Amino acid sequence: MDLTLSKADRDLQAHARAFTEQVLFPHELANEESGGGLPPETLAALHRAVLDWRLNAINQAREDGGQGYSVFQQALINEELGKATGCLWDVVWNPAYSLRFGSAEQKRDYLRPSCRGERRDAFAITEPGAGSDPRMVRTKAMRRNGRYYLSGEKWFVTAGDVADYFIVHAHVDDDPDKPTLFLVDKDLPGVALKRTPKFMHSFVFEHPEYLFFEVELDETKILGGVGQGYELTKDWFVEARLGIGARCVGGAIRAAEVATAYAAERVQFGRPIREFQGVEFMLADMAVEIMAAKALLYRVCWEISRGADRRRIHARASAVKLFCSEMAGRVVDRAVQVLGGRGYMRENPVERLYRDLRVDRIWEGTSEIQRVVIGGQIAKRGLGVYTGWVDP
Ligand SMILES: Cc1cc2nc3c(=O)[nH]c(=O)nc-3n(C[C@H](O)[C@H](O)[C@H](O)COP(=O)(O)OP(=O)(O)OC[C@H]3O[C@@H](n4cnc5c(N)ncnc54)[C@H](O)[C@@H]3O)c2cc1C
Repeated sequence: MDLTLSKADRDLQAHARAFTEQVLFPHELANEESGGGLPPETLAALHRAVLDWRLNAINQAREDGGQGYSVFQQALINEELGKATGCLWDVVWNPAYSLRFGSAEQKRDYLRPSCRGERRDAFAITEPGAGSDPRMVRTKAMRRNGRYYLSGEKWFVTAGDVADYFIVHAHVDDDPDKPTLFLVDKDLPGVALKRTPKFMHSFVFEHPEYLFFEVELDETKILGGVGQGYELTKDWFVEARLGIGARCVGGAIRAAEVATAYAAERVQFGRPIREFQGVEFMLADMAVEIMAAKALLYRVCWEISRGADRRRIHARASAVKLFCSEMAGRVVDRAVQVLGGRGYMRENPVERLYRDLRVDRIWEGTSEIQRVVIGGQIAKRGLGVYTGWVDP
């Protein structure tokens, strides 16, 4: 069993680390001071940097203009990007996984320009009455005379402010058995911004609420097919959950590094605080938890890169998301404690990570929903899905 990283993977990791430290870190404080958001000229420079560093669309195939990286390589990159606070990792765009299931025309008009950074998507599933339970979605696409008329309300549309189109989860003919994804251009008549609420983190982009009033669409705007909404969203969830797992590992590593360095230099009662067992044990727990989470993340991403079964992928991605996000919460909490009052200052990365990483236990399926998925998989396939080792 060989767990060493190849030279190519180590180079990729170093590349992503250099990008995060040299390109993203310098903008963290300005983003924090603005409460989330950077001036347009800074965002334009970051956009160019993403292209120059060839980190655009790391999740998409080369033939579509992406970088064609394996799921394992994407995890290596996302881990590094996750060290940046203010969720600056989101300036590095990844067009939604589901777009690869589009028609040739949809790939030309949506996927490829999105890979190049000329267009940007935002995924809109959640509604006032539909969060963990997407069957409660009320957004409907009514069929009339060969066209679809989409109406509803979507909440928490991440990067909705910078997106120029949405991937909207709606029920065709108001039938929950026909969940369907629609490509909806933001400038179409009937699409309206409702509100842009503020959140705990200082996210570089917004999560606005949008209203859709009888937005006229034809069948070329259906992604996949009528009724395929869940299946396509499920694939997107796998990618998003692994991305969260990787970013949580990266964020936790940064917090632990800051705490470890501080504990070595901060002197109280005549000695560095690291020499107090109460502090040393916190550093030890952080290190071990990160080690365990990273081992799980790398293992599952490696299995997927080797072509693991799709159902097992979904089952294990939930375990990665659950464990890594909860681990990151515990690690960052301890890092704040080690830094004392300084850990509570917004100018300190551990304070920002403390707020940034909280949402990772909520979005793309809460921790409870991951447990529901995992419990269901144990009932259906047995404990071995989690406790066994790599499938043949
Ligand atoms: C900053 C941010 C960005 C987001 N971005 C997007 C986005 O881009 N696109 C998008 O579509 N959505 C987005 N979301 C929405 C996010 O995915 C939902 O908030 C999440 O799925 C939970 O839904 P909810 O908030 O309605 O909570 P609810 O579903 O109402 O859950 C409330 C509580 O009940 C628990 N609960 C619910 N059902 C069960 C159950 N069966 N068993 C046990 N406990 C249960 C939950 O775990 C939670 O603790 C975003 C959310 C946030 C905060």
